[in-house]
Amino acid sequence: MRVLIIEDDAAIADAICATLTNAGHAVDRLANGRQADVALRDHPYDLVVLDLGLPDMDGVEILRRLRARADAVPVLVATAREELEERVRTLDLGADDYLVKPFALREFEARVRALQRRRTTQGVPELQLGRLRLDLPRRRVHIEDVPLELTPREFGLLEALAARLDRVISREQLIEALCGWDTTLTDNGLDIAVYRLRRKLEGSHVRIRTVRGLGYLLEAGDADATTD
Ligand code: CA
Repeated sequence: MRVLIIEDDAAIADAICATLTNAGHAVDRLANGRQADVALRDHPYDLVVLDLGLPDMDGVEILRRLRARADAVPVLVATAREELEERVRTLDLGADDYLVKPFALREFEARVRALQRRRTTQGVPELQLGRLRLDLPRRRVHIEDVPLELTPREFGLLEALAARLDRVISREQLIEALCGWDTTLTDNGLDIAVYRLRRKLEGSHVRIRTVRGLGYLLEAGDADATTD
């Protein structure tokens, strides 16, 4: 997933950034509310971790503007404000979940996984595509019962494609999904990742189809079919 962390406490931002990066996500971080509002307009994110007390623009205002634009990106609010009224207000404004600081990183990770499940598989832990079993939140892939070893980049690619099953995703959209501001992926790099993932998906009855001039499409065949 591509995640934006909006947090002005550097120590907390460092910790959750490291947690998400270690889990294989592409992470961007900002400490300023107004800059975060701009970034949310300019880049497609799969998850936003939002602090409420921020310089220049309050997190509540960022959230209000996000939902006013009909942007449905999942938002996990992480804040020191623990008043009941504040929690209720934030959830009513469209936050998907709420963590009061200080929180354990393990709980943070579990809540991120829960939001990811809701986004990608309507809450079901695993996605079954052809003979492929995909546990996106835990980043595990099997062909039938055999674990499939994927690099973080290959996993990110499969995740981005699976989130848009049977719909074309452009090369630009894939690169946006795979890279934060600090990482880059060239056209050639994307071609190599697609090539390698295709090789690894052989026998899974799941296929990455090239749609000339438009991008890629993930197609899943019947799990019981004898050929791909
Ligand atoms: Ca703060």
